[in-house]
Amino acid sequence: MRKPYIAGNWKMNLTPTQGAALVKELAAALQGKDVKVMVAPSFVSIPAVLQAAKGSNIIVAAQNVSDKANGAYTGEVSCEQLLDLGIRDVIIGHSERRSYYGEDDEWINKKVLFALSQGMNIVLCIGETLQERQSGKLEEVLSRQVKVALTGVSAADMKRITLAYEPVWAIGTGVTATADDADSAHAFVRGLVESLYGKEVAENLIIQYGGSVKPSNAKELLGRENIDGALVGGASLTADKFLPIVESALE
Ligand code: PEP
Repeated sequence: MRKPYIAGNWKMNLTPTQGAALVKELAAALQGKDVKVMVAPSFVSIPAVLQAAKGSNIIVAAQNVSDKANGAYTGEVSCEQLLDLGIRDVIIGHSERRSYYGEDDEWINKKVLFALSQGMNIVLCIGETLQERQSGKLEEVLSRQVKVALTGVSAADMKRITLAYEPVWAIGTGVTATADDADSAHAFVRGLVESLYGKEVAENLIIQYGGSVKPSNAKELLGRENIDGALVGGASLTADKFLPIVESALE
């Protein structure tokens, strides 16, 4: 049985003060609920959000991390720095990192391997562009992204990997993949992971869906067999939108 995992990627939104207030509201509402919830604030907000989340079961994660241990890498943040704060979870390979900051599959693989070696848990994002989908390349793209990003990752380490299928054309656009389309992409990815790691790893793997998830579509998406959670952007920025999404995972 896969436990639902709902994550909020705040991107470059919310000040430390706003983030702390939001997480306090979420923590109060989610007390005692059997669902895994994560929020990923900007780096500068992490200390305030962690402090506000203390005593709750909300995981605070980073949106990105360096593939290097430390050194002369201006503007980067290391696993060691995150771990020192108490952060053990990180999103890697978000489509915005891929498209705006040039992260390719090989670089993402380096980040994955290094973060795993430091004991971190990873939400690894994959997903096709509209052009790739329309030209019939969905499976080819997902296969490449999964295989390259996971090169060198052991079956044991797969326990610390969550995949997030996020069709690029559905991120921040208001357009959602239909539940059928999302479920069939998830089933394809699960089959791929089975071919790489075997049935047990594939059956235990959490695959989140991301792309304009909101209160009105969360229940339908999360009700599908292969959709085990959500990675939520815009709708994770206020409790009145994020909490109903979390509730949908409990129904
Ligand atoms: C995301 O950034 O991961 C995302 C899915 O964004 P949105 O929910 O706003 O589409």
